[in-house]
Amino acid sequence: MTLFEKIIARQIPADIVHEDEHCIAFRDISPQAPVHLLVVPKKPIPRIGEAMIEDQELLGHLMLAVGEIAKNESLAESGFRVVMNHGSHGGETVPHLHIHILGGRPLEWPPG
Ligand code: AMP
Repeated sequence: MTLFEKIIARQIPADIVHEDEHCIAFRDISPQAPVHLLVVPKKPIPRIGEAMIEDQELLGHLMLAVGEIAKNESLAESGFRVVMNHGSHGGETVPHLHIHILGGRPLEWPPG
């Protein structure tokens, strides 16, 4: 069971801001911006590069959830960043696909 599956199963506590049939969103335990959320599919796809054609609808659902959650967090007007880390160079640390939403301050580009 991945760490995020344990959060979904309420075996590990998290500050959950959104949940629906297909995904959950909660505050990152080590926030890198004033608002730092993770949007996680309930299906434990390891990482984006391993998503399959049958995940197409789910991936679309996650992207629409990102927009809705960002709006609920009052980020839509000021702006926000969406990040997915794949593998070691990407900075992935949890092998369960997740989308970072970062906002609440201006973010630099390019990332480090
Ligand atoms: P990544 O490095 O892209 O795999 O992102 C994993 C994220 O999960 C990191 O930003 C961590 O801070 C975050 N994280 C790890 N454990 C927890 C937890 N128990 N609750 C919330 N976020 C967590």
